[in-house]
Amino acid sequence: MTSDVIIIGGGIVGAASAFFCTQAGLRVTLLEKREALGLLTTSASLAAFRAQFGEAENIAMMRESISFFENVRERTKLDDAEIGMVQQGYLFGTTNPAVLARMKQRVEFQHAHGLDDVELWDGDETRKHFPFLNSDVVGATYRAKDGWLSPNDLTNVYARAAVRDGAQVFYETFVEEILIQGDAVRGVRTNRGEFHAPQIILAAGPYAKNFAARYEWALPIQLIRRQHAAIKAHALIPSHAPMTIDADTGAHWRPEARGAILAMNTDEPPGEPSDYIKPDWEFPALALDAVIRITPFWEQVAESLRKDDLDVRAGQYDMTPDAKPIIDEHPNVRGFFAHCGYSGHGVMGSAAGARMLADLMTGKLKRADNAFGMARFEKMQPGALEKMVL
Ligand SMILES: Cc1cc2nc3c(=O)[nH]c(=O)nc-3n(C[C@H](O)[C@H](O)[C@H](O)COP(=O)(O)OP(=O)(O)OC[C@H]3O[C@@H](n4cnc5c(N)ncnc54)[C@H](O)[C@@H]3O)c2cc1C
Repeated sequence: MTSDVIIIGGGIVGAASAFFCTQAGLRVTLLEKREALGLLTTSASLAAFRAQFGEAENIAMMRESISFFENVRERTKLDDAEIGMVQQGYLFGTTNPAVLARMKQRVEFQHAHGLDDVELWDGDETRKHFPFLNSDVVGATYRAKDGWLSPNDLTNVYARAAVRDGAQVFYETFVEEILIQGDAVRGVRTNRGEFHAPQIILAAGPYAKNFAARYEWALPIQLIRRQHAAIKAHALIPSHAPMTIDADTGAHWRPEARGAILAMNTDEPPGEPSDYIKPDWEFPALALDAVIRITPFWEQVAESLRKDDLDVRAGQYDMTPDAKPIIDEHPNVRGFFAHCGYSGHGVMGSAAGARMLADLMTGKLKRADNAFGMARFEKMQPGALEKMVL
């Protein structure tokens, strides 16, 4: 089987790559080792998206992706594309005046970079909009057009549009190795035999780092377990709420089907890639405790919950030192591209990241203009790679 590009991995990043490569006129083969797309990290996601970032390239990336999500039917030319998009906003709230001062600077930066719909509120204004925040909150930033979607629906929409335009998808197809001739990619060997193409995209999520290392490509990625707790429908959970983040602790929650999804970062050692990441059953209790701090109604919800009302999921963040993805070509193997390292932002970044990758592959984006290339790590201070920003 011969094509222009082979994609290793059918999570949301691989599926988005398939879509944008077909739009760029490439013949695509997508290989996924599981029986369906999006079953690993993608399905563990909170599936939220925001343009509220503090760096220009992230703001640009997420704005481009959000615009794609908002216009998904037009962009994919699939009249029935449904991605479960909900734009109820993202709210970062703080009880700390020093944090509020930094948030003000961030909003000024965002406005200066064209993201002029981020609002900065004091405590009273925050409670006027969202009365469930307590009186300790001294201020918040809010963007109404941030939100969340269904990551599996989006993955399948990308794939469906790619297949309509000629891409081929193979399930239960495990890529064992890359075939290299001289200094260039020739294809891959799988459990189903060889597939040939002059270009491959490594979109294997948590498996990308170890896979690349076999070809002397050291991707600076650490795998960190992250979890979320899902709470069944409950009368006290405001279903109109935004993604509500305690900016002082990182604990956050958002409504989902009249219930909610809660998350927070716990101290986790770096791990190895795995197809099953075991969640902790104490996690929902920890997350509930954490969200009570600025949204106290959770205390009452917690008191009335039974074990059956809770579910917990875990997956791995593929963290890079600056929490931005890696979109680049192997320095010594022509045609070997990496598309990974999304560091907890792979759903929201998928559309813009895949568009950039396709542009890089077709020469529309010059290597020197690629903000997500490996060169940026060379400019980092020694030690930064070891520390890793979590
Ligand atoms: C708890 C949690 C919450 C999150 N919340 C958010 C959020 O709110 N917003 C957001 O944008 N992101 C979020 N993320 C991050 C997001 O889920 C990931 O960035 C994204 O899913 C990564 O997609 P991926 O396609 O790179 O990886 P994956 O979804 O892991 O897909 C990789 C695929 O590659 C396949 N594969 C691996 N090796 C091979 C091989 N050798 N041959 C064939 N196939 C192979 C795997 O089977 C898998 O299907 C969250 C993550 C977690 C864990």
